[in-house]
Amino acid sequence: MRVCILGGGTAGWMTASALSKKLKNVINSITLVESESIGTVGVGEATLPHIRLFNEGLGIEESAFMKQTEATFKLGIEFCDWGRLGDSYIHPFGDFGQSINGVAFYQHLLKLTKHGDYGVLDDYAFGISAAKNNKFQLPKGGKTPLQQAFGYAYQFDAGLYAKYLRRFSESNGVRRIEGKVVDTVINEKSGDVSSITLDDGQQISADLFIDCSGFRGVLIEQVLKSGYQDWSNWLPCNRAVAVPCERQTHLSPYTRATARQAGWQWRIPLQHRTGNGHVYWNEYISDDEAVSVLLNNLDGPALGEPKQLFFKTGRRNHFWKNNVVAIGLSAGFLEPLESTSIHLIQEGITNLLELFPHDSTSPLDISEYNSRMSLQFERVRDFLLLHYVATKRDDSEMWRYFTNMTLPDSLQQKIQGWLHRGYIQRYQFGAFLPPSWIAVMMGQNLVPQHYDPRVDCSNFEQVKRQSQAMRADIAGAVQNAKSHADFLKAIGAASNTELLRAK
Ligand SMILES: Cc1cc2nc3c(=O)[nH]c(=O)nc-3n(C[C@H](O)[C@H](O)[C@H](O)COP(=O)(O)OP(=O)(O)OC[C@H]3O[C@@H](n4cnc5c(N)ncnc54)[C@H](O)[C@@H]3O)c2cc1C
Repeated sequence: MRVCILGGGTAGWMTASALSKKLKNVINSITLVESESIGTVGVGEATLPHIRLFNEGLGIEESAFMKQTEATFKLGIEFCDWGRLGDSYIHPFGDFGQSINGVAFYQHLLKLTKHGDYGVLDDYAFGISAAKNNKFQLPKGGKTPLQQAFGYAYQFDAGLYAKYLRRFSESNGVRRIEGKVVDTVINEKSGDVSSITLDDGQQISADLFIDCSGFRGVLIEQVLKSGYQDWSNWLPCNRAVAVPCERQTHLSPYTRATARQAGWQWRIPLQHRTGNGHVYWNEYISDDEAVSVLLNNLDGPALGEPKQLFFKTGRRNHFWKNNVVAIGLSAGFLEPLESTSIHLIQEGITNLLELFPHDSTSPLDISEYNSRMSLQFERVRDFLLLHYVATKRDDSEMWRYFTNMTLPDSLQQKIQGWLHRGYIQRYQFGAFLPPSWIAVMMGQNLVPQHYDPRVDCSNFEQVKRQSQAMRADIAGAVQNAKSHADFLKAIGAASNTELLRAK
């Protein structure tokens, strides 16, 4: 097989790295075409823990990678003002507390809170307590199971990550060509793309094309007319404005998402700067007002001019059509509220590796790939929508829009099961496991009517003692942990003198 990847953003270089490493003996040649004059989206800085598996699979060493991409550790996302104005909670990567007599701890907490102050879920997760105190340690550094029961991801400069992976791919034999695709040749019989033509007249033929051309979807949409499922009735935010600012002294190991009147604002601390952006629905706020909201809510002075981005939430009808596979923004877009875009790129790559054609594409593989990716996108859509509907907010047009919404059946059932007696209906696919759903539902005051009846089979006095011991275990460990900045320095991941001065 000869493979041609169109696009050199995060999606293009992640795909090139993975294919060149994992399918060395299967692929004859990999060519990546990108156009510097078109450029990349250039935002996309927070990730999910799965990316560690991706990097490990390439043999990337963590501290060297973090140093070169100005990366920080991410223990979760702090959501401010979502359930109600003034509320805040952290969605961590990991579970809460430890099961007691085979029943998940959050079920016991539902009973405990009816009998006094036993804290909130946040107090039973090491990752959350560490995040709130700007501390970090690796899970394997924990001395008890509770101190090890968390995951972590990274926040990094996506442009530097793409450059890092470009070096990796080129050293693995990927050929990069600078140029703009201006035409394509289609095989009339099969409908496949035979070759692409660049603005300098060069023609590149391949057996399989990976379309990583971003929102344009040059091959999957402009040429093959895959079609787009528009989900903006559920997730109507359609614009963003982004600007980095100077980083303040403390280096927090988490992303923040603050709900606003017509959208929400992100804050992503990197080593050399803090990334910020305001995602909004232009129906209820003008572009100028959106910029003002962003600039009025920065930690420090802005570094540069705000950059405007336009999008429509949804996904392609076909992620893989004929001999073209769309990965990245060309496949679809869901707002970055839970940092899922790079994760969906990873899912696309993982599924492509599993279903990679022997010598020509097979309709069976294509159909399997498309149904897996459709579910991945739908699961993320439901999880994002949960944040907007599990709320008491009705203080602006946008929030009132969500109070009258008909939800997708899959989400409606999930919420009903939770409210009924606190269980999380299982999905077949999806990045977010039950603890994530529990974090958001509890964090946004969606409290079940009943707890699991098995809770009443445990000795209540013992449960109280155990819960106090869990909180003490976590609090003690967090106190002894290094600050996030010191941890980065200790493992050789600190990139610059700014950070070396930071607390
Ligand atoms: C506001 C916003 C915030 C985001 N935040 C996050 C986040 O926190 N976490 C996260 O995981 N994701 C986030 N994302 C998504 C993330 O930015 C993207 O998923 C990621 O950057 C991948 O982009 P891409 O490579 O698909 O496309 P792009 O970065 O747009 O790259 C497209 C490539 O195709 C090339 N190209 C296009 N047309 C042609 C042509 N005709 N000829 C030749 N080359 C061409 C371009 O030159 C470029 O190299 C965010 C996205 C937005 C819009």
